[in-house]
Amino acid sequence: MRVGVVGAGWAGLSAAWALHRRGHCVHVFESGRTPGGRARGLWSSALNRRLDNGQHVLLGGYTETLAQMRELGLNPDQQFNRLPLSLHSADGSFSLRAPSLPAPMHLLTALLGAKGLSWPEKWRLTRQIATLRARGWRVREGLSVEHWLVQGHQTENSRRVFWNPLCLAALNTPAAAACAQLFANVLRDSLGGPRQASDILIPDVDLTALWPAHAVAALTRCDAHPRACGENSVAFGRTIRRLAIDGNRVMLDDMPYDAAVVATPPVSARRLLRTLPQNTASARYDDMLAAFAYMPIATITFKFTHPWALPHRMLLLHDHPGANAHGQWLFSRGDLAHVVVSDARAMADEAQQSMVAGVLRQLREQAGGRWPLPDVSGYHVIVEKRATFAAVPGLKRPTNATAWPNVWVAGDWTDTGYPAVLEGAVRSGRRAAAMAGAAQETRRI
Ligand SMILES: Cc1cc2nc3c(=O)[nH]c(=O)nc-3n(C[C@H](O)[C@H](O)[C@H](O)COP(=O)(O)OP(=O)(O)OC[C@H]3O[C@@H](n4cnc5c(N)ncnc54)[C@H](O)[C@@H]3O)c2cc1C
Repeated sequence: MRVGVVGAGWAGLSAAWALHRRGHCVHVFESGRTPGGRARGLWSSALNRRLDNGQHVLLGGYTETLAQMRELGLNPDQQFNRLPLSLHSADGSFSLRAPSLPAPMHLLTALLGAKGLSWPEKWRLTRQIATLRARGWRVREGLSVEHWLVQGHQTENSRRVFWNPLCLAALNTPAAAACAQLFANVLRDSLGGPRQASDILIPDVDLTALWPAHAVAALTRCDAHPRACGENSVAFGRTIRRLAIDGNRVMLDDMPYDAAVVATPPVSARRLLRTLPQNTASARYDDMLAAFAYMPIATITFKFTHPWALPHRMLLLHDHPGANAHGQWLFSRGDLAHVVVSDARAMADEAQQSMVAGVLRQLREQAGGRWPLPDVSGYHVIVEKRATFAAVPGLKRPTNATAWPNVWVAGDWTDTGYPAVLEGAVRSGRRAAAMAGAAQETRRI
């Protein structure tokens, strides 16, 4: 089967790679100039360096992403800096670290040994996770993370230093508005899994080089099925504007395919699917696509005159948006430091210079006392306005199957059970490929 894939983000490339492995021929179309979509490398002329469009962190529990990297002949151990579950605040007021014990002892020891929580707080925190596990990682439908934490008698302090930063990092949605079930799913597959599942994986190469560029190369070389296919292609700078159905064929801008996988964000997927014939089922699908709201993420990268000697690659910052201190996480490597601001809505109206000055002041106050900041020689601010969808309770997310035959969708926004994360995008792409492939193979029988 010849399949047209729209979008070369993590979902589209996962779908294309999985289809190719099943022996199908894929043509990928990507608007941008690089593979990776919302998780891609780029050139910063301000810093004269390659950067990412935003600092990303993966988890040991991202099993499908890691499996796919191995399928592509990559060794994840060489691509990531793998840290055991550990959180350290830059000001030294909070820290925890999981020892190398089997699960769940690693977690229990980390929680009970945490600095910055009282004994009753450690007990309540442990009980909150144990109760969730005992309930099969299920919470009441419609519950927000904050509501769930209040029900579990989590104190203001444990929410401030532990729960809220985790929720914001995982869901890019503040605890008061975030869906407790999606958060529980992330906890299930990280803290609730084997010890390695809660490891933190920080990419050591840029996000395009991590695997998307390898996938493009493997697809164009037809690595998995050289004889069966021989004509995969990946076209950059190519925006698909129209879909149509012609008998059993799906037309992508007048190019005929046996099937299409639309692996774009919901806004462009909606625009494309609206070019197809509409009916009652498609109207329901359209309503789901229209219901997504989006949250920004900002990453401010500082370049220093010499490396900043921090003891941890990743540090927690306490943010005070009212005081112009927006930073939530600090990632450092060599002479670069990346400050991440999830739910960056508060920064929207602020002038860039004053925001950068505020974050730098925050770094000096929270980290600089113990580890003096080198001089800054440059900075680069990237705000991804639609970084993720808002992971709110009650959001109905579409499946990979659409209202039209042979038209499938893939993306972190489909019904993956995860918030908008890389692992969700990869799983969605692979599932769309499996469904499209199975439908075609059934027809052939
Ligand atoms: C700043 C930032 C930080 C993040 N941090 C994390 C993190 O730490 N951990 C984590 O797991 N996740 C993180 N995420 C989320 C993660 O990046 C996304 O979940 C993932 O990249 C989504 O992949 P996707 O393939 O579903 O969509 P996209 O990456 O959006 O891919 C869609 C692609 O389709 C292309 N396209 C759109 N319309 C068309 C068209 N008509 N024709 C052709 N091409 C088209 C786009 O150019 C794009 O390349 C972060 C996201 C951002 C922005």
